[in-house]
Order: sequence, then C-alpha cells, then structure tokens
Amino acid sequence: MSDAENRPTNFIRNIIDADLDSGKHTSVQTRFPPEPNGFLHIGHAKAICLSFGIAQDYNGKCNLRFDDTNPEKEDIDYVHAIQKDVQWLGFEWAGEVRYSSNYFDQLHGFAVELIEKGLAYVCLLNAEETREYRGTLNKPGKNSPYRDTSIEENLALFAKMKNGEFEEGVCALRAKIDMSSSFMCMRDPIIYRVRFVHHHQTGDKWCIYPMYDFTHCLSDAIEGITHSICTLEFQDNRRLYDWVIENVSVPSTPHQYEFSRLNLEYTLMSKRKLNTLVEENLVDSWDDPRMPTIAGFRRRGYTPASIREFTKRIGVTKMENTIEMSVLEACIREDLNDNAPRAMAVLDPIKLVIENYPEDKQEDLVVKNHPSDEAHGTRTVPFSKELYIEAEDFREEANKKYKRLVIDKAVRLRGAYVVTATRCDKDEQGNVTTVYCTYNEDTLGKNPTDGTKPKGVIHWVDADKSLDATVRLYDRLFTVPNPAAEDDFHKVINPESLVEITGVKVEPSLADAKAESAYQFERQGYFCLDNDIKEPGALIFNRTVGLRDTWAKVSK
Ligand code: ATP
Ligand code: MG
Repeated sequence: MSDAENRPTNFIRNIIDADLDSGKHTSVQTRFPPEPNGFLHIGHAKAICLSFGIAQDYNGKCNLRFDDTNPEKEDIDYVHAIQKDVQWLGFEWAGEVRYSSNYFDQLHGFAVELIEKGLAYVCLLNAEETREYRGTLNKPGKNSPYRDTSIEENLALFAKMKNGEFEEGVCALRAKIDMSSSFMCMRDPIIYRVRFVHHHQTGDKWCIYPMYDFTHCLSDAIEGITHSICTLEFQDNRRLYDWVIENVSVPSTPHQYEFSRLNLEYTLMSKRKLNTLVEENLVDSWDDPRMPTIAGFRRRGYTPASIREFTKRIGVTKMENTIEMSVLEACIREDLNDNAPRAMAVLDPIKLVIENYPEDKQEDLVVKNHPSDEAHGTRTVPFSKELYIEAEDFREEANKKYKRLVIDKAVRLRGAYVVTATRCDKDEQGNVTTVYCTYNEDTLGKNPTDGTKPKGVIHWVDADKSLDATVRLYDRLFTVPNPAAEDDFHKVINPESLVEITGVKVEPSLADAKAESAYQFERQGYFCLDNDIKEPGALIFNRTVGLRDTWAKVSK
C-alpha cells in the first residue's frame, strides 16, 4: 500500500528507527486496542492508520485487541463492527483477534504476585471514603487503614473477592504505590473490582474484573508489543503503566508513546456522545452517513484510500489541534474526481420537449464514463424527443453570466446535441413545467457548422427511460465548529443536516449501481447508492460530497 518514498515521517517513526538502529528491538510489534463499547470513529482511523501503518512499513505486526474490561458497556455487535471497519480500511491484524479477557487468568496471577510482594492490598473503604483519602491535585492523599494488612490476609481477602463473597463496591484490590504522588493515578489506584456481570467473552466465569490501567500494559507485555501507541490523555498514566511492568514478572517490556488525538470540526468524537445520538434517535444509527464513524463514512461513499490519505495529511504530533472538515473533504473529492464514473441525474426535473425531433425516434448515445481516463470506458444513454433537465437550468431571460438554457439561446446537452429554447409552459403559480426547444441534428460530438458555439453544457435524462430515485443531501451534523465545547450539544444540532429529495430522475444505467460505490452525478456532486435500502430495487443515493469546497465559505 505504501512504498518507501511515500512513507510518512513523524516522531513515533523516528523513535522506532532509533530503536531498530540501536538494536533495542529487532522487529516492531504494535497493537490497536479498541474498547467494544461503540463503533469506531474517524479519530480511531487515525490511530489505526498509525499503528497498522507502522507495522506494514517496518515489516512488523499489529494486533487487534479488544480492551474488554468493562462488560456492562460492551457488546458483541461492536466487536464485529470494529473488525469490519479495520478490514475495510485495508488492514490485516496479526493472527487471531485478541481480547484482554483472554488474559484474565494471567492478570489474576500478576495481581496475586503483587500481593505476595507486598505491593497490593484489598481495601475496604467505601467509594466516598476512597475519594476522600485520595486527596486532590493540591492536597496529598492519606494512606488507607487497610494498606498495611498482612500479605496472608490480603491473599485471603482477594480470594474471597474472586469467589464472589463480597458485594460490588464493598472492596477493591489496590496497588500500593504513593498516596502523595503528584500523579493522581499513582495514589494507590484500584486494579481489580467486583462486578457481577456477564461478559461477552468469558461468560460468568469472573466476578472480579481488572481495571484498564492494570490490564492494558500487561496485555501489551504478554503480546510482546514493542511500541504501544495511544493518545495523549494516557500520558500521566504512563507512570502507572511502567510501575506495573516493573513490578511483576512480565515476559517482555513494552513502552507507551502518546500522540494528540484527532479532533474534526463540526463533529463529536466520543463514543459516549455518539451513542447518545443513536440512543435518542437523533441520527438513524451508528452508520448514519452524518456520523463521523468509519461505518458512516463508508455508507456515505468515502473510500478507504481517502481516509488513509486524510490521516497521512494531518500527520502525527503531540500538539492538540482541530482539523477543518475541508481537509477531509478534499481527500475524498480528489479520489473520486480521479476514480468515480460519471452519470446523469436530474434532482429537480422539468420537461424539455424537442419540437423538431421525430416522435418515434430513440437513440442510444455513447458517452464517456470519465472525461480524462479512458480506462473507465463508455456507456449508452437513451435520447428521445422528451427529456428532463434541472428546473434551475432554464430561464426565460438571463444575462450573459447564466450559461444555461434561455429562450432563443443555445446550450449543449451533455454528450448529445446543441438545442435552442423556443418557449415554455407554466403552472398557475408561474413555475415553468415544460420547456420547448429545437435541436441541431448536426451537432452530435461537434460544434454547429454556422460557426456559433454554445455557451454552456447542461445535463439531462430521457423522460421515458429514466428511473425514479431518491437523493439524500447531507450537511454537517452540528451548527458550530466545536460542539463538544457546548454544555448541551442538543442545542447545536443542525436541523438541516439531512435533506431528502424524492422524484429525482436518473439515467437507466444507474439501475446497476452498487452500494457504496461512488458516481459523479454531472454538475451535482459525488453520490453512492445507500447500503441499507429496505425496499428491494429502490434507488436511494447518498451525497458523499459536493463538487467544490463549500466549507471555505461557511467558515468565513
Ligand atoms: P472515545 O473517547 O471516543 O470513546 P476511546 O479512547 O475511549 O475513544 P478506545 O476504543 O479506547 O476509544 O480507543 C482505541 C484507540 O484509539 C486508543 O488507542 C485511543 O488512543 C485511540 N483513539 C481514540 N480516539 C481517538 C482520536 N480522536 N484520535 C486518535 N486516536 C484515538
Ligand atoms: Mg477508552
């Protein structure tokens, strides 16, 4: 996928280069560790392209590991959706899919080891007391009265926890580190707690579950991860990560490196908040094309290559920033401009009747599928006396700037003839319903012989042979660039984030459109067939992106 010259450079790759040069490591092993509590979003795509991309470029390996220590919030459906998204992005994980829960037995053993070394204890303070003892950023914590219980007693208490002899919340296993540390995470963090919940992988085997900070580093060590790459919010926790690795008999010593997370304007990037949008039916589902999820982008017509290119363009640093939507849109627009076949669709149709075209004649015009890339081939488009054109492409009178159809003026029908408008019919409200024109039979693929040249080109479909379709126009889901900063994001949801247009007329070749595969609808933008059409045979097209950057204007 990425040849040597095309490799990105960033501080993490520099560290890896140095580790390989110095012989600290001879091969690279990374991992991507999603928690299966929601669908992956575009932020995760950044993390995926980073960790999987490194494995690819260094002939290393990247594991897919579900960080599944929170069974109440997790779901097997998310486990499946996440795998699909990683594969769709074009990556392969090394070996089987892994789960932190695969290591619950080993993790339990490591916890016992800490107790045996006098480095962990069962604490019976309740939640409120625990909070009080912990202190604050400005005030050191106090030692728990259970901190100095004997090793034997702690082993017995931990066994009781494991055997289900304590209610939830009564006690927890804590690492014995430093209650006065300036890093809150080092103030005797909880490493195991009691939870009587069914787990999607381990069933009812366990009623104690390890905490993330204990599980993550040890899972890395068990899997032989060399470079454990995560986002900056885990920077402080790296102290705890290293403490755990130093204090139990791990099979390897992984290191954690942090980079800044992706923030994208006009979107939310937290699974918890995205889940709220789904739960409250503010969007259709996790893969609603307005969602910043990978599944949402796929359904909207984004390609894996465009998302990979986006993560490359934004780079990897330790600086917090927010990326403009136009950066992402440029990536898909460039990809589709090169790769999407063209087709014609009329979103707001009015009739165009060619008065001098024979009543019973029907032609199959051969049209290029791509203006510059012959590899896309050609298709036939039916043409006859009655067509549809866009209502906005006709005016009775207009100035020179309007390069479309005007009475007594000529325009080219894309891939067909030059026509000149003669008159029109209107309804009672004065809306044009039918435009009449004449065509010049001698202008198929060439200019008129009288030396005139039509000013504009408009798209059209055959009235009789065209198909009915629905088009969904998507806009940003929020009206402000940073909805996460609002106290209530509900107040800034864009009411016009979806506009559905029915009665659209599309050329008949689109009957063969494949879900998710994009077309450029001439002069309208890029569209793909929706991947979740309930009524068989119905044609519903999602707009992936417009032809030009409209965001630049929005932000001014
Ligand atoms: P969220 O806050 O959206 O729920 P998370 O960090 O809890 O995200 P995880 O499933 O734990 O989600 O994340 C898996 C990996 O993806 C982690 O290594 C995390 O650092 C990374 N990640 C999550 N969000 C982003 C983001 N916005 N940009 C880059 N990487 C991210
Ligand atoms: Mg998380």
